[in-house]
Amino acid sequence: MRKIAFGYSTRCNIRCSHCVAAEDTPDNAKMELGRAKEIIRDMAAADVTGISFTAGEPFIYFDDLVELVTLCRQLNIYTRIVTNSYWAKTPEETNLRLNALKQCGLSQLRISYSRWHQQHVPQQNVLNSARGSKIAGIDYFVSFVTDFSEKDDTYEQFLRDHELIFFPEPVIYAGRANAFGRKTIFTDYQGNRCAMNPYLAPDLTMYACCDAGSHFNTTNFFNLGNLNSCSVDQLFTKNETSALYNCIRSMGITNIASFAGIKARKIVTYRKCELCEKLFNSPDTLRSLQKAANTELQRWVR
Ligand code: SF4
Ligand code: SF4
Repeated sequence: MRKIAFGYSTRCNIRCSHCVAAEDTPDNAKMELGRAKEIIRDMAAADVTGISFTAGEPFIYFDDLVELVTLCRQLNIYTRIVTNSYWAKTPEETNLRLNALKQCGLSQLRISYSRWHQQHVPQQNVLNSARGSKIAGIDYFVSFVTDFSEKDDTYEQFLRDHELIFFPEPVIYAGRANAFGRKTIFTDYQGNRCAMNPYLAPDLTMYACCDAGSHFNTTNFFNLGNLNSCSVDQLFTKNETSALYNCIRSMGITNIASFAGIKARKIVTYRKCELCEKLFNSPDTLRSLQKAANTELQRWVR
């Protein structure tokens, strides 16, 4: 199934200190509305069935968003919007916006929430947008970004007290969060398979990964190409037929690290995206993995 994180604009009304989206790219880049519509039509023709509007804060361009979601519905594309809820100041304002989005066919709202977001947006807004989604008949969930420290206990309790649907998501130490101090970890020896959702940036570059991988600038391993010179179908096909990407999806990053000669006791000290960076943002390691991707790597057993 083809689906994509659609970065219509990187502009955001707040500046979270953990933001993975912000790094070296201009933080106010935006697609032309007409071009975005053309791309969505091309995506439908290329059998894309799900679009998640993300990057900066999509509600900043609310009228454009309404047009894009409407178009997706006409083309039978499932839609999600990722938002920080800054706009959900009162139940009335919230219902107005969410009813409009429901009318034009929005399928799901993903509400970003964390101790970093909530330095800028009151918790009440999160509650308003979750409750407003229910009222409007839009599926929702709260994406609770956490470093799993005790500092987040009260934030989690707030979600529990109000019986909101939430998923804890680990901070990704990329973008601004790269500067964070981090605890040493020892994980289980788990596969670390990754679904690798593709991401389209406002400059029309498409990446095979919508998180830390789009920042692997030494090798640009996840950069698939640009829609100014390639078609949607070509870039998706590249994403789906890369032997090494398919190893990440099927055998997992841990197995690839083991193949690359990294000892098990070292592997368990890496977070998933950091292990990914170690393997694929190093030109030498990447070169040897690419060479092996169709042969020994696929046959690798510990
Ligand atoms: S994490 Fe989301 S809400 Fe926060 S600055 Fe980044 S894009 Fe904006
Ligand atoms: S593990 Fe790699 S491919 Fe998956 S989200 Fe992290 S950086 Fe991207």
